[in-house]
Amino acid sequence: MFSIEQFLRINNIEYRTNGKNVSKGEYSICCPYCGEAKFHCGINPSKGLFNCWKCSEKGNIVRLVAKIKNISFIEAKEIINPTSELKKILEERNKVVEESEIISNKDFKLPEHTYRFDKDDKINMWQEVALNFLKEKYDLNWDDIEQANLCYCVYGRYKNSIIIPFYLHGKMVNFISRSWDKNAKKRYDNCPNEESLVNTKKMIYNYDNVKGKQQIIVVEGCFDAIKTGLDRTVALCGTEITQEQRNTLIGLKAEELIILFDNDPHLTSTSKKSQDLADYLSPFCKTKVIKLPHGKDPGDMSRDEIDNLIGG
Ligand SMILES: [Zn+2]
Repeated sequence: MFSIEQFLRINNIEYRTNGKNVSKGEYSICCPYCGEAKFHCGINPSKGLFNCWKCSEKGNIVRLVAKIKNISFIEAKEIINPTSELKKILEERNKVVEESEIISNKDFKLPEHTYRFDKDDKINMWQEVALNFLKEKYDLNWDDIEQANLCYCVYGRYKNSIIIPFYLHGKMVNFISRSWDKNAKKRYDNCPNEESLVNTKKMIYNYDNVKGKQQIIVVEGCFDAIKTGLDRTVALCGTEITQEQRNTLIGLKAEELIILFDNDPHLTSTSKKSQDLADYLSPFCKTKVIKLPHGKDPGDMSRDEIDNLIGG
C-alpha cells in the first residue's frame, strides 16, 4: 500500500508531523506550487488530500505526487495504486508517439518561388499583397510573421498563398498553404504526403516551441495558434483529431491543457469535440475547455481577450 511518509522520505522531501497547522496523522511540507519554505502545505493521507495555506493550491494526493515528481497524472496514479492495465495502456500509447517521429533522412524544401518576408524590402509588390492579407484577415504583425517563419509563394500550385512551415525537433517537415486569392479553388492546400517528412495529421503544429511548458493552449488552426501566441499554443489543423495527435498532446506532459476551439455557428459538434478531447486527456493532466463567444475563433481575438477567457 502507498505510504505518503515513505514517498516523501524516498524523494528527500523534508516534512513535519507536528506543529501549528498539523493535525494528528497529517504531514506538512514546503509547498511545491508556490515555493514557500515554511511547511505550509498540509497533507491528509486518510482523506487523500493536500492543501497549501499560503497559495491555496489544493487537490488530491495523486496531483501532489505528479507535481513533486514532475510526471503526468496517470503516472502518479500508477505510483500510488499500481495496476498493470494502466501500464499497458501507457506503453501502447508511447509506442504510437514514437512512430510519429521523423523517420526519413530526406531533406525537406518549401515549394519553388516561395520567399521569406523581408522587413527591409519596401518595394516588393507580392510581399505587400501577402502582408496586407495577413494583417487584414488575421491581424498579424511582423513579430508574428517572423516567429512563425511564414513565407509566401507567387507561382505554381501554391501561387498567391501564404506558406506555413511545420517544424518538428528543429527540422522543417511539412507545410500548408493558405491562398489570399478570392477566386482560388482551394483556400487551404497541403504539401503532398510523399514529399512531406511527417504528415500534418500525425503531428501538432508548433510542438517544438511549447514542449516543456506547464500550460499549453490547443487550437484548431495554425493562424489561431500564431494569433494566440506561439510561446504557448499548438494547433491540430482541424477538429478531426487523430490518435497520433492525442498521443503527442499527452507526450507534451503539460500540467494543464486549455482547449480553445472555434465556436462555429454552423457546426454544433465542435463543443462536443473539445469536451471529448478534454475527457480523453484528463487522466494525464489538468484540462479546461474554453467556450468562445458565438461565431468567434481564437484568431478573431486579441491576446488580452484570450488571457481574460483563460483566467476566468
Ligand atoms: Zn503553496
